[in-house]
Amino acid sequence: MHDTLPRLEAICFPDLRRGRLTTLQVNVGYRCNQSCVHCHVAAGPNRTEAMAPELIDLVLEVLERRRLSILDITGGAPELHPAFRRLVAGARELGIKVMDRCNLTILSEPGHEDLASFLAAHEVEVVASLPCYLEGNVDAQRGKGVFERSIAGLRRLNALGYGDPRTGLTLNLVFNPQGPSLPPSQTALEADYKRILAERYGVIFNELFALTNMPIQRFGSMLVSKHQFDDYMALLQSAHRPENLEGVMCRSLVSVDYEGFLYDCDFNQMLSLPLGGGRAHLRDLLADDLDGRPIRVAGHCYGCTAGQGSSCGGALKEAAE
Ligand code: SF4
Ligand code: SF4
Repeated sequence: MHDTLPRLEAICFPDLRRGRLTTLQVNVGYRCNQSCVHCHVAAGPNRTEAMAPELIDLVLEVLERRRLSILDITGGAPELHPAFRRLVAGARELGIKVMDRCNLTILSEPGHEDLASFLAAHEVEVVASLPCYLEGNVDAQRGKGVFERSIAGLRRLNALGYGDPRTGLTLNLVFNPQGPSLPPSQTALEADYKRILAERYGVIFNELFALTNMPIQRFGSMLVSKHQFDDYMALLQSAHRPENLEGVMCRSLVSVDYEGFLYDCDFNQMLSLPLGGGRAHLRDLLADDLDGRPIRVAGHCYGCTAGQGSSCGGALKEAAE
């Protein structure tokens, strides 16, 4: 795989500093029931990396000490972590909003049949990747049969009230383009997804997050192999909107790896770019709120500011509209 970091570090990006920390995004490990070809952490059933139980305790301690408002849990399939339910329940007891980055197929894995009910009972926000509403495209990206099982997972969540604005149980979907282009208008695409999923499958959801592909990991390597890297970077840079800088997620979020080390965002974690201002660990958050620290930026950051903007919560609508 081509390492795109040297190319990205050669590109200037405006200086950024952290604002008030609200969100802890925790990667609890790389084990997954799927092994998608594009997976940026190369997760799969045989991966054994997992957050230690004492670090799960530390996550809860930090959430309470820093009075954070959101815990965003990711992996792998985070639900496979033995302490997933303890972490969710502990955060909810603290009154913290919990987001689960769910691959949908986990909901029908043997031994996890009650997972959807657990998520609903704890009012966990489900964020699920569904890169297309067409079966062939999803199966090509995520594996044969994944679309059908994803629809079954969505129906299971809908049956519990997820996706219905009256219940307060939030189900959001994530889209990213298949190739080196900017995502289309999130608003227009969301309307298409809603119409087609409802008409064909009877599925409802709350919001669609349209994310820009980052020129890192497998996608970045593919761009280099196809001699498209420079063109894609030029596209991102030409679409840069300074007004998106205010809303980039690294200003209010910190990303934690399964060993407890901190990064300004998930992408920096994947690039092994430590937190701006120096390497730091979850335990440092007990004493330091990170407020005002510089953010570690490089060329990939244009992926967050191009066009309508992109964050783990989708387009930076307020800045772009
Ligand atoms: S479901 Fe997600 S974490 Fe699992 S292999 Fe696919 S992309 Fe990776
Ligand atoms: S890539 Fe990460 S560090 Fe760069 S702007 Fe986006 S969220 Fe911030």
